[in-house]
Amino acid sequence: MTSTGHTPVVELRQVTKEYAGDVRALRGVTLTIHARELLALVGPSGSGKSTMLNVIGTLDRPTSGTVRVAGHDVSALSDSRLSALRARHIGFVFQHFHLAPGRDAVDNVADGLLYAGVPRAERRARAREALHRVGLGHRLTHRPGGLSGGEKQRVAIARALVGEPSLLLADEPTGALDTASGAMVMELLHELNAAGTTICVITHDNDTAASLPRRVRLKDGEVVADTGSRRGAAAGVRHGGEAS
Ligand code: ADP
Repeated sequence: MTSTGHTPVVELRQVTKEYAGDVRALRGVTLTIHARELLALVGPSGSGKSTMLNVIGTLDRPTSGTVRVAGHDVSALSDSRLSALRARHIGFVFQHFHLAPGRDAVDNVADGLLYAGVPRAERRARAREALHRVGLGHRLTHRPGGLSGGEKQRVAIARALVGEPSLLLADEPTGALDTASGAMVMELLHELNAAGTTICVITHDNDTAASLPRRVRLKDGEVVADTGSRRGAAAGVRHGGEAS
């Protein structure tokens, strides 16, 4: 379900993440993502982006601080409830697509509903709809091997969206694509956002980040700049400028 009302989709409060060997990957990150935002989490290698992806996507728990997804405090949930929260609220898109090679586009997308308790026929019907939404209505029966890189990423985006998650988390979604295909994928993300999808793109690429309305810059595990949400700006919240 798409998040409604004023509950933020994601709220991090003073989140830290430490790994064995005294690695402090996140050092007190506070970040709010509202419904219908389109933002980049941007920073160089080692700045903490993957750790943020894992924490926001509830794949990993923080060492300290609070993580809320769609209003639910992650620390209060068992692992199985956390999996259910993730399945319902977060759609993932990866740099290398992660599609099943032997299955056609419809089946790959229908897999996005496997944990939602939706019967197979309905899963496939909704998968076809999602593929139409991403402009792949003419590629329904193609397997990944018969699709271009950009088309594969659009299938992966359809799979992430088919369950209508509160948040689409896209990890370097153009990282494996040529410039033209990458531009088309970014255009699609803009279109989906304009139609109401909340999207967070994780990237090391300043140009990709610059094309998005909000940029949150990470460095050494800290947020060093946040251009702010449109909603925050409308409410008169002050934000730091961006360094680059
Ligand atoms: P990015 O995605 O921006 O490259 P990461 O979140 O992967 O950054 O890494 C942030 C810091 O945490 C780096 O210093 C990295 O070496 C360290 N790190 C990440 N994952 C682990 C891990 N599983 N164990 C130990 N250190 C880690």
